[in-house]
Amino acid sequence: MNIRSIMNLPDLLEIRSLVCVEPHPDDNEVGAAGTLFQLAQNGCQIHFVTVTDGAAGTSNPDVAGTKLAHIRRKERLQAAKLLGVTESIFLNFPDAGTYQVDDLTAQLVDIFRKLQPQMVMTVDPWMAYEAHPDHIKTGKAVAEAVLFSSNPCYKPEAGEPFAVQQIAFYATNYPNTYVDITHVWENKLAALLTHKSQFDNEEWPLLSEYLRLEANEIYALKLKHDQQLVTNSTHGSPKNGLAEAFKVLSSRQLHFFPSALFS
Ligand SMILES: [Zn+2]
Repeated sequence: MNIRSIMNLPDLLEIRSLVCVEPHPDDNEVGAAGTLFQLAQNGCQIHFVTVTDGAAGTSNPDVAGTKLAHIRRKERLQAAKLLGVTESIFLNFPDAGTYQVDDLTAQLVDIFRKLQPQMVMTVDPWMAYEAHPDHIKTGKAVAEAVLFSSNPCYKPEAGEPFAVQQIAFYATNYPNTYVDITHVWENKLAALLTHKSQFDNEEWPLLSEYLRLEANEIYALKLKHDQQLVTNSTHGSPKNGLAEAFKVLSSRQLHFFPSALFS
């Protein structure tokens, strides 16, 4: 049973307004740059929300802190421009800080009610072995905010309730949606490299090759998935390519919905 098709919800690449929430100022690119680039080209209004200031994103203590946060804010804006993103919003929670999920949820509900996106995207907080608290807190806060945004009892002072229809998680162990990014791979790499403080170093050749191999494996999963759906979409598809993977859920599947894992 696919509740999303029963509800006639649009596919990921048909979305026309998206809020994409990341823990750190480069996660949206790592998880979804190829898909985001195509969405923007299709005319989708994309708003980025960056939860933390990224001040701890270095192994060099001399650079960490306010100086790095400033650099990463600039990199975030440049990469977003390259992808065709409409606006970047910065929440400035401390990177790896002790903030609470509830505080983040409250701010996200304000944003969702104001921007009224068709879909919200973020990291999957239930990815096995994910240990970074910013990723776990961000993913959970986004899911909570999608749930509460439509509830008139939650923060009634924060504008009219608004029902976000769908949520998409990147960096997921439970993908149900695959996007071919073969033709925009160079755009993804360019957007990633805009985050010089993170990627312009001696590890980049190894990392970029790893990312390509991973995207290649995801493409193989995409072909298998398309065949299982018995669609015509694999007809004529190249055997080799690159893809990104997502878990896309109807917002209704975010509460008391055990089969969401298998949808
Ligand atoms: Zn991150």
